[in-house]
Amino acid sequence: MDPRVDLHTHSDHSDGTLTPVQLVALAAERQLQLLALTDHDTTAGCAAAAQACQAHGIQFLAACELSALWRGREIHIVGLRVATAAPELIAHLELVRAQRIARLQAIGERLTRCGLDGAGLAAQVLALPGTPTRLHLARALVAAKLAVDTEAAFKRYLGRGQRAAVPPQWPTAEACIGVISRAGGLAVLAHPHRYQLAAGALRELCAHFHDSGGAGLEVSLAGMGPADAAQAAGLARRYGLAGSLGSDFHVPGLPWRPLGRWLKLAEGITPITELLGFRPAGAPQPA
Ligand code: AMP
Ligand code: MN
Ligand code: MN
Ligand code: MN
Repeated sequence: MDPRVDLHTHSDHSDGTLTPVQLVALAAERQLQLLALTDHDTTAGCAAAAQACQAHGIQFLAACELSALWRGREIHIVGLRVATAAPELIAHLELVRAQRIARLQAIGERLTRCGLDGAGLAAQVLALPGTPTRLHLARALVAAKLAVDTEAAFKRYLGRGQRAAVPPQWPTAEACIGVISRAGGLAVLAHPHRYQLAAGALRELCAHFHDSGGAGLEVSLAGMGPADAAQAAGLARRYGLAGSLGSDFHVPGLPWRPLGRWLKLAEGITPITELLGFRPAGAPQPA
């Protein structure tokens, strides 16, 4: 049986809603053997998650999901098994945090021009602990009854090209891959099917990702359809990227993104767990 692993999850240190300890309790309930906490642009929840995983006998990888730009478009890069104390990684995360604060304030100004209390909404989000994201702002809009749900908040105000949208200014993909690699981690291109790229552009992105030192590609993600999974598997094989998998879990109760869902890798793909030296508990040791 395939080991149960989840290498893409969020806690309330970014835009998830569970604390790391609650997340790990759920992971234990779901009998996960290996878990990575991949909060947006932070590793702040990793120490608590590591401790909780140890108590539950779950193997843990300190990780994060970095926001990056490739050809001016936003992509996400998961850094697996990073050294959270690496000074270069810490400096990178501090820089991005400052960029996020400036961006949310700029979005707040645009919301004000839409006739809303933009400064108040932005201040509310910036007062929260953890990485501030547009999802927090979407939740604040919903709480203020200015949108029926977060999806509507993105559609009306926060999504690309909408009234209050501010294009992000993240570091480049190469920079992020470099920071992750020098922190001892493996860089994984997250959710390739969500970038709305044409097939040729997606191939170019994967080639560039590999040539810049990237190690893996998410080929099996909760919510990925069969066609997307087949395309991702083809890209992993073609560009020599190892296959990663996970749920991109944010909140409990979303049936299409359950924590630790059983996921399988397609044939002919090196599991990223192999590069990480992961062996399920009880598995025979190599001779
Ligand atoms: P940010 O990193 O500040 O740009 O915030 C992006 C976060 O918002 C993502 O990590 C998603 O969790 C969430 N998000 C992005 N687009 C949408 C959308 N259309 N509907 C709901 N959540 C979204
Ligand atoms: Mn998110
Ligand atoms: Mn993402
Ligand atoms: Mn994510």
